[in-house]
Amino acid sequence: MNGEVLVLAEHTAGELDSITLELLGKGRELADALGDRLSVVVVGRQLQGAIDRLADKADRLYYVDDPDLGVYNAEVFGEILAAAARKIAPRLFLMGYTYLGMELGPALAMQLEMPLVSNCLGIELRNHGKVAVERPLCGGTLRAREECDLPLMVSAPLTAFSAKAIRACQADVVRIPYPGERRSLRTRVREVVGNISGESTIARSDMLVAVGRGMGSPDKLRLFQELAKVLGAALACSRPVVDMGWLSSDHLVGLSGSTVRPRIYIACGISGAAQHIAGMSGSSTVIAINKDPLAPIFNVAHHGIVGDMFDVVPQIIDEWSRRSSARTAPVTSDHNNTNALNRDA
Ligand SMILES: Cc1cc2nc3c(=O)[nH]c(=O)nc-3n(C[C@H](O)[C@H](O)[C@H](O)COP(=O)(O)OP(=O)(O)OC[C@H]3O[C@@H](n4cnc5c(N)ncnc54)[C@H](O)[C@@H]3O)c2cc1C
Repeated sequence: MNGEVLVLAEHTAGELDSITLELLGKGRELADALGDRLSVVVVGRQLQGAIDRLADKADRLYYVDDPDLGVYNAEVFGEILAAAARKIAPRLFLMGYTYLGMELGPALAMQLEMPLVSNCLGIELRNHGKVAVERPLCGGTLRAREECDLPLMVSAPLTAFSAKAIRACQADVVRIPYPGERRSLRTRVREVVGNISGESTIARSDMLVAVGRGMGSPDKLRLFQELAKVLGAALACSRPVVDMGWLSSDHLVGLSGSTVRPRIYIACGISGAAQHIAGMSGSSTVIAINKDPLAPIFNVAHHGIVGDMFDVVPQIIDEWSRRSSARTAPVTSDHNNTNALNRDA
């Protein structure tokens, strides 16, 4: 083996976050291409669950497990990871462009004196030992491809990579001793308020109903919540909706929020600014409802409805509910007729 490709693992109560699996998939591809070992590092408290789930997905697993590490503190985690990475000396250090990676990445890059390319949507190995990385520029209106030397740190958003290349293996498990809390800490976490889950629900949802400023006022939210409910979708939004306090930031799609790739993305009253498109253009099917036929969202939509969403959305809800109840209604006819009914619905 020439060196190591190291992945920073994120988990929630021992369950691996999707970003970890996606980075391990990409990490495996790159490690194979480089002739390197794929390693993963995890830091926290009571890590047995995470260790069990990681141990068959990488060649080596490093962990730092201590009761003091139950609550995330960027200063402490940053120092532990920097000390570990100095010893491991990875050629590529991959982490999520997540809340954790956005905070730790620059701090680690500085401590390790390693260049960091953040928010990468693609990484490829070049023949002459360099890597080509692709990342959004100018608020997502452009994509830049840059060639970088190794060693390199790279952060990537959720869904940029696939977990497919993960290969079953048995990792060497290496415990890194916890150095102990130092007195010189400048930050202490006194209390954790709210949800600290590393991943937003919208990034994992198969179907999203996204609302924009066109909603007009927060009391209209109920209509879109109802649409999301009947379709079994999660509710997402554009930035003005968050800025005006109508929804919390974990619903935000775009450059300053989550990158999403659902099967179906329904944009209601969203104009389609580049910063929003940057977060949802990977959706398999985009359906846009907008009263302005020239709204840029129609440039990325597979299906567009030009109209007032306060007329259109209630019709979708009614039609969907009618079809759903037709699907679930008891059928007394014979088998062939039942199948015909289901096909039509
Ligand atoms: C650095 C930076 C980062 C940013 N990050 C993000 C980000 O992550 N995510 C994000 O979304 N934005 C982001 N923005 C903001 C972005 O530039 C846009 O301002 C924002 O996306 C616009 O949101 P919108 O489409 O909801 O509102 P608008 O642009 O105001 O569009 C509202 C739309 O609603 C339509 N409409 C109005 N009433 C109705 C109706 N009754 N029925 C149907 N349609 C109707 C209008 O025709 C219009 O197209 C960022 C900006 C900057 C500078």
